Amino acid sequence: MKERTLSRNICDANNSDCVKCSVNGKLMCTFNIKDTLYFILPVISAWITLILGIAYGFVIGKINLPILIIFSVGYIGYLIFFFQVWENKMLCSHCPYYAFENDRYVKCYANYGIHKAWKYNPAPMTTSEKVQFLIGITLFAGIPLILFLMIGLYIYFGVSLILTIIWLISMHFLSCSKCPNFSCPLNNVSKDVVDEYLKLNSVMRKAWKDQGYIID
Ligand code: SF4
Ligand code: SF4
Repeated sequence: MKERTLSRNICDANNSDCVKCSVNGKLMCTFNIKDTLYFILPVISAWITLILGIAYGFVIGKINLPILIIFSVGYIGYLIFFFQVWENKMLCSHCPYYAFENDRYVKCYANYGIHKAWKYNPAPMTTSEKVQFLIGITLFAGIPLILFLMIGLYIYFGVSLILTIIWLISMHFLSCSKCPNFSCPLNNVSKDVVDEYLKLNSVMRKAWKDQGYIID
């Protein structure tokens, strides 16, 4: 079913054109809290499991105070670096949500409110950036799992692993299948929808064609 896009466009067309647009409803062209909830609920569940597991490990003596401090500072520091600097550059700076010059913050379903630290780059991600992104997201999901394994909290490890798998599956079907950052290695949008969208975004179309992309 076609959806009315209420806020501004991520393409060349007017907002009023969204209702009759061929990709309307097939891409997340505007912020919708439902998309954010689908994306973030498994992540929040995994973080709650992490906090409970760390608290439990601390109470039963499997985690001492120095380890608690080192892990907390290290992991939170990594998250800030990953979202605000690293992923911001290699993934988000290529996204049409990053294109609005007057916005200092990204307003998308996944990273709403993240500061735009880099210049918008409409070209597709490079191979190096794709590899970096996969490494970065593996660390993001894998560090809590490694902690639980190292301190022997196998039930928390199992629950976290299941939640991580649920996140990847739900992201694949509910988010990556409609995300307008097409060159992300996890992106799952069909080529015909990508081509239809590029026909509506002259800046991205030129940058993609310059990199050898062929629109059917
Ligand atoms: S591609 Fe453009 S016109 Fe079409 S639904 Fe998205 S924002 Fe609207
Ligand atoms: S939709 Fe994804 S790639 Fe685009 S700005 Fe948001 S988090 Fe970054």
